[in-house]
Amino acid sequence: MRILLTNDDGINAPGLAVLEALAAQLSDEVWVCAPAEEQSGAGHSLTLHQPVRLREHGERRFSVTGTPTDSVNLALRKLFADKRPDLVISGVNAGENLGDDITYSGTISAAMEAALAGIPAIGLSQAFRDNGASFSATTGWGKRVLEPLIDVTMAKRTLVNVNFPALPADKVRGIRVVRQGFHDYSRGSLVEGADPRGRPYFWFGLQDAEHTLDHGTDLEAVADGYIAVTPLQLDLTHHSAIGALADRFAG
Ligand code: MN
Repeated sequence: MRILLTNDDGINAPGLAVLEALAAQLSDEVWVCAPAEEQSGAGHSLTLHQPVRLREHGERRFSVTGTPTDSVNLALRKLFADKRPDLVISGVNAGENLGDDITYSGTISAAMEAALAGIPAIGLSQAFRDNGASFSATTGWGKRVLEPLIDVTMAKRTLVNVNFPALPADKVRGIRVVRQGFHDYSRGSLVEGADPRGRPYFWFGLQDAEHTLDHGTDLEAVADGYIAVTPLQLDLTHHSAIGALADRFAG
């Protein structure tokens, strides 16, 4: 099995090293193509107005001077032109990607880029509490989560979002397959200040975003100490609204 790893925290991120160790337990052909710099919050952006560079860091290990989407797209076009990977895993992100985080997330967007290309894709994220960065839950449970996900055949243009709770591995309560929850960052914290020239600036915070812990969501599962596994689809159509909207435009 040929596995491509990527992330949005950059080629030197600790979470990528965690993922590389995990992937080595699953396959002996593991490739890495990740952004050269931190790209958290880059979403599904593709760099169109400037060139990107591909740097080789070692055997099967590359960085791209661009976004997570650039990294996967360039890997598929250039590194895997005639031998596509069987699986793309993105992460392990330093921080959760729950609810509507996924549309901002470079981690999930990199997996989306693979799903668009018809390649099975999984995003992995590790929740942190305060600044106590630990990948304990991912390291302890990663293989148990990934092996069944690799076995299952997912529909085309879908991917799987996995979030590990901010707990030591031996405190994790289990794995739940759940739906996407809800986040509203328009109500999150905003830091205001003045730059050295006295001009005002604003800095988006992620704290206090409005969210619900509805039953059966990824947010609830991780809050309860479970690993959240959520299948996602790239078809964002709100299918049940098609009929009502079509009626509005009917002659
Ligand atoms: Mn990130």
